[in-house]
Amino acid sequence: MAAAQQKMHPATRIFVYGTLFFGVTCFTIFWTRFAGGLALVWPGTAIAAALFLSVPQSRHLGTAVLLVGLSTLATSVFGLGPEWAFPLATINIFEAWFIAWLLVRFRPERDYVDSEQGIVWLGFLAGLAGPFAAAIPGSLVVMQVVGGNWLEHAFSWGVGHGLGTLLVLPLALLLASYRQPIPEPIRGPGRLLPFFGIVLLTLTISAVAFLQSTVPTLFLPIVPLVLASFCFGRFGASVTVLNITVCAAVSLAMDVGVFAQLHLALWQKALFLQFYLSVLLLISFPLAVALKQRQRFMEELVDREAMQRLIADHSDDALLHLDREGTIRFASPASTRLSGLEIVEGLPLAAFFSEFDKEIVASALVSAAHYRGHTEIIERSVERSGQTRWLKAKLRAVDASKKQASTFVVTIRDVTERKLNEIQISWEARTDVLTGLPNRRAFLDVPEAQLEFADEQPFGFALIDLDHFKRVNDSYGHAVGDKVLKQVAQIMRENTTDDCFFARLGGEEFGLIACGSALETLSIICERLRLAILRSAMTDNDGGHFNITMSIGIAQISERCSSSMAMQAADGPLYSAKAAGRNCIRHAQHMRHFAGSSVRDRSSSTLIAVR
Ligand code: GH3
Ligand code: MG
Ligand code: MG
Repeated sequence: MAAAQQKMHPATRIFVYGTLFFGVTCFTIFWTRFAGGLALVWPGTAIAAALFLSVPQSRHLGTAVLLVGLSTLATSVFGLGPEWAFPLATINIFEAWFIAWLLVRFRPERDYVDSEQGIVWLGFLAGLAGPFAAAIPGSLVVMQVVGGNWLEHAFSWGVGHGLGTLLVLPLALLLASYRQPIPEPIRGPGRLLPFFGIVLLTLTISAVAFLQSTVPTLFLPIVPLVLASFCFGRFGASVTVLNITVCAAVSLAMDVGVFAQLHLALWQKALFLQFYLSVLLLISFPLAVALKQRQRFMEELVDREAMQRLIADHSDDALLHLDREGTIRFASPASTRLSGLEIVEGLPLAAFFSEFDKEIVASALVSAAHYRGHTEIIERSVERSGQTRWLKAKLRAVDASKKQASTFVVTIRDVTERKLNEIQISWEARTDVLTGLPNRRAFLDVPEAQLEFADEQPFGFALIDLDHFKRVNDSYGHAVGDKVLKQVAQIMRENTTDDCFFARLGGEEFGLIACGSALETLSIICERLRLAILRSAMTDNDGGHFNITMSIGIAQISERCSSSMAMQAADGPLYSAKAAGRNCIRHAQHMRHFAGSSVRDRSSSTLIAVR
């Protein structure tokens, strides 16, 4: 409706609806005031309410004044006369405004002709609440003019206006929502002709149903009504009910056919007719709305599918749809590259991954089916043309129905670049730049894992510190010091076994962890290392050689403790080794003393320059 408001200027809208309101009001007053009292049907309220609903609030007062003027004129000329025309017109227009106000107040979504709930609100507020509220002052005025029973007038006002509004307001709202003068459902020659065909059929069938009374055929108009609802939606339903109303009104006004046979008062006949038409409207309009919603849903589905196709065809990711068994039923073009297979349709999802990952893929599918709406992620390395690639799959169950097993949607992306980056970053964060050995952080992670099982699988822990290293820097410069540290790292690599994990803890301090069989031989390894360092000639900037030594503290960790406690356990013996003159190994007290290490090599306890 908002789009239509932009299309038609409010002033134009007021002019068009005002003219329509005047014409329809004159017509209904002239033709349906059978008893000399009120008109039996009052569609003017619907036109006025639709106008109030479709112009800005700032124009409501001006619109009301105009409509009151027009209504006064119509009633003066064709209705109860000029004396009471103004109060009646005021109440009529108040009724229309009040209905519009109620609708916006209680159903701000404004979906009065777009959803089932909207229609229910429209029926209740425009067909009952508004008209019966206006019936109280309205019937008091009518009583002043024509006398009679107030309650009867009120009832006839409420029903007459309620019906008129119910019959016309949906059509008026629909027309207000169309962007162009010819309503969208009947635009184009292919639509217009069938529409007039149905109009003709409706009029013919309704004429048969109402204007003859030999055979009871009041159910017949339902046929063109349902047909119109199917073919032309809400517009078709509204127009058809109006056409049926016209035939019924002719029968009622001329007292021929069905209505001539009813032995009832005129107002009772009118009531019957109103009831009949309301039932028709209640059958056809919700049907048309449901059809419209379905049509919108289908259109959205087609649009969405087209978009998904476009994305799937041009995406670097593989987009897959799996059936309930996890077999690939649809695969986008990128699947060929990512799977390394020509065709993946008909294969299980595991076809993208290595043999060993079958179970991981299967359990991810089970988990996705169990936790619907949850995304399962698998990230695995695969071999493609002799290269290692990393694939990341995201899978989710499609919640078709709670009773059925799920199908799955899957995206697979090549994340090799990111993975290599991560590995590089993680390697850099755990590696000492100068020596290429693991750093302190990486070293501390090892006992973290080992300490858990230390009581069953004890392990050896050694702290190694180069002796008087400051002097190396002082004597030969920092660059030579760096070269020495690198050389020490190399000597460590050459003199340790695979069971040993060693790292540069910082400065000229190294750490060594030995598990398994290496625990038994840790002391031997350390001694071998000490001797290897002692015997290695370091080179200074001038090509001269010098030697360095190291002190080592060893502890055996055979209880659960923190990594810092494990470090402390080895720190004590290291301190003892330094105190004992350096270039030697000391063990923590509860560890078996290694005979060789207790023999201190005094000759190499200090820096030895061999020039
Ligand atoms: P101690 O036998 O008591 O261990 O004596 P030390 O001189 O080896 O010990 P100290 O802790 O006094 O000095 C350690 C020195 O190690 C100080 C510092 O200049 C040197 N050092 C630490 N990190 C580096 C490095 O990355 N490169 C170089 N060239 N020297 C370093
Ligand atoms: Mg030192
Ligand atoms: Mg030190």
